[in-house]
Amino acid sequence: MENDGVRPSPCPLCVRFSDPESPLVILRSPLSVLSHMPGIDLPGYLLLAPARHVEDAGGLDREEQGEMALLQSRAVREILTLPEVRKVYVLSFGEAVPHLHYHLFPRTEAMGRDPELLAHGAPDGPKIFERYRERLAVPGLPDRVHALVLRLRTVFGEKPLLP
Ligand SMILES: [Zn+2]
Repeated sequence: MENDGVRPSPCPLCVRFSDPESPLVILRSPLSVLSHMPGIDLPGYLLLAPARHVEDAGGLDREEQGEMALLQSRAVREILTLPEVRKVYVLSFGEAVPHLHYHLFPRTEAMGRDPELLAHGAPDGPKIFERYRERLAVPGLPDRVHALVLRLRTVFGEKPLLP
């Protein structure tokens, strides 16, 4: 889709995925890409997306569906081993960036105890997601996020994606 000017704006995920040096990419297969969320000091906040530009889950083919389901499960399992992480929220909007991607958001123990972010005594997931994305926003790539990306590359490189 074109914005009122002369050329369509490039898709930021297609740009990132085509960069073999991207410091955010953890795993790249011909079908899917697992990467870290940029601009946030929250280690383990990952993004899962198809490698090609697909705008909604209805456009995934069988192979992509299978691999992404498997990767989502493995990624959630890994995120849950990180210190303080109690849950992983999985969200997809496609408003700001049209390339289908799932946010795998680590909800920590401290976030779940935040008295401002409770609803009927339980952690209020949508509010936690919104507030902590603002609170933890940082420019660049924090060292601890970079270190985690390097470690997860090893973890995900150890076993074949599909049995
Ligand atoms: Zn794209």
